[in-house]
Amino acid sequence: MMTADEYRESLRKLRRAVYAFGEKIEDVVDHPLTRPHVNAAAMTYELAHDPRHEELVSATSHLSGRRINRFNHIHQSPDDLVRKVKMLRLLGQQTGACFQRCVGFDALNAIYIVSYLIDQEHGTEYHSRLRDFVAYVQETDVMCDGAMTDAKGNRALRPSEQEDPDVYLRVVERRKDGIVVRGAKQHQTGGINSHELVVMPTTAMREQDGDYAVSFAVPADTPGLTFIFGRQTNDERKLGGEIDQGNARFGFVGGEAMIVFEDVFVPWERVFMCGEYEFALPLVETFSSYHRQNYGACKGGVADVLIGAAALIARCNGVAEAAHIRDKLVEMVHLTETLFNCSLACSAEGQVTPSGGCYVNPLLANTVKLNTTRFTYEIGRLAHDIAGGLLGTLPSEKDLRHPVVGPYVQKYFQGAADFPAETRIRVARLIENMTSCSALVECMHGAGSPQAQRIAMFRQANLAEKIDLAKQLAGIADEGGA
Ligand code: SF4
Ligand code: FE
Repeated sequence: MMTADEYRESLRKLRRAVYAFGEKIEDVVDHPLTRPHVNAAAMTYELAHDPRHEELVSATSHLSGRRINRFNHIHQSPDDLVRKVKMLRLLGQQTGACFQRCVGFDALNAIYIVSYLIDQEHGTEYHSRLRDFVAYVQETDVMCDGAMTDAKGNRALRPSEQEDPDVYLRVVERRKDGIVVRGAKQHQTGGINSHELVVMPTTAMREQDGDYAVSFAVPADTPGLTFIFGRQTNDERKLGGEIDQGNARFGFVGGEAMIVFEDVFVPWERVFMCGEYEFALPLVETFSSYHRQNYGACKGGVADVLIGAAALIARCNGVAEAAHIRDKLVEMVHLTETLFNCSLACSAEGQVTPSGGCYVNPLLANTVKLNTTRFTYEIGRLAHDIAGGLLGTLPSEKDLRHPVVGPYVQKYFQGAADFPAETRIRVARLIENMTSCSALVECMHGAGSPQAQRIAMFRQANLAEKIDLAKQLAGIADEGGA
C-alpha cells in the first residue's frame, strides 16, 4: 500500500494537461488551487497505515490474499459494505471535505458485477479483463477516478440523436488492437489527482446508441486527455492567506474537473463494455447505488465537523447554554445520524451477486442519497442560524492582521471572553465554507440529481406488491378491477 507521501510523489510524475483559470498547472500537488484536494485524497492512503483504523481502511484482497487499501477492494460480503461506510464517515470527520477516492472504488465494484453479466449473455471476456485491471490497481495502489457523467447536450435527445455526436463519449474507431474514443466527462471528482480514469456510460442506451455503450480504463497521462479544473465558491481565497479558506488543508468539495477525450486510444485489454447497449442502464444503476450508499457516511462525517463548529461558535458567542441552541444542535445530530443509519441499512442488506461482488440494497441506497439532498441543506441552515450574521460579513484575514484596522477587528469580533476573536473568526470561516454553494451542490447533484433517485426508487418500490397488500386488507377481490 502506498503512503500519503508516495501518493503525492506518484502524482508529480504524471505528465498531464491540467488547466485552471486559463493557465496550465504543472504540479497539482503543490498548486494552491488543487493542493487541498490532493491532501484530502492523501488521507485515504495515510489512514490505511494507521493501526487504529487499518480494519476499516484496509482489506484482504480476494484475488491475491494480500492486504490492500480498502478503496481498491471488491466487496465480498455485507460486512465489507458496512466497513466501507464506517471508513467514509471516519474520512469525512478527518477531512471535513470530499476525499474523492470513492468514485473509482464504486466504478470498479459496479463494473465487476455487470461485466460478469455481459459475459454470461454475450460470451465476451470483459470480466476477466476487469479482474486483471483490479489486480493491477490493488498491487500498485493507484487511485482510480470513476468517470460517468457526459456533457449530454440537449437533454431531450438520445445520445445518437444529438446535433454534436461528441456530447456523449463514444467509440469513433474500432481497431484490431483497441478502440479510439472521443467525448468529455463532466464534474469529475478527483479527476486531476487520480492515476487512472475508469469510464462508464451515463444513461440507458438503445440499439442505435451502441457506440456510446462503452466502458474502459486509461492511465490519466494517456495522450489526448485534457483536464479543465472547475471553479468553486470563493476559490480565489486559496491564492493567498489561510483563515479565509475555512479549511485550508482539505478544501470542501472534490476538486471537480471536466476531462476531454480527444481521440484517445484504449487497448482491448482495458475495455470492459463495447456496444452491449442493454447493459448500459444496469451499469449506471449499479454504480449509482454504490455511490448513493456513501452519502450518508461521507456527508455524515462532514456534518460531524459542522455540528462541532456550530457548537463551538455558540460558545464563542456566549449562547451555548441557550435552550434553542441545544435544540438546534440536537436536530443537526438527528439529521446526521438518520443519514448514517440509511447508509448502514443499505449496506447490511447487501447481497452477494453471481460475480461474487456484494451489492448494496439499491432501494435503500437511493433513499440515503435523496435524504442527503435535503438534510445537508437543513443541517447547513441550522449552522447558519446558530452562527449568526458574521458568516456573511466577516472582514478578511488581511484586515485581521492589519496594523491599523486589525485591532478594531480583534476588539469588535470578540465574543465570550474565553475565546479570542481569531477563534471565533476561524470557526465562522469554516462554517461559511462548509455550507457554501459548491459544498451544498455536491450534496444535491453528486451521485445523480434527486430526480434520478426518485426514478430509481419508483422502479424498485414494487408498487404492485403494495397494492396487493392494500387490496387484501380492504377485502377487494382481484377481479374487482382495482
Ligand atoms: Fe466520496 Fe462522498 Fe466525495 Fe462522493 S462525495 S467521492 S462519496 S467523499
Ligand atoms: Fe461526489
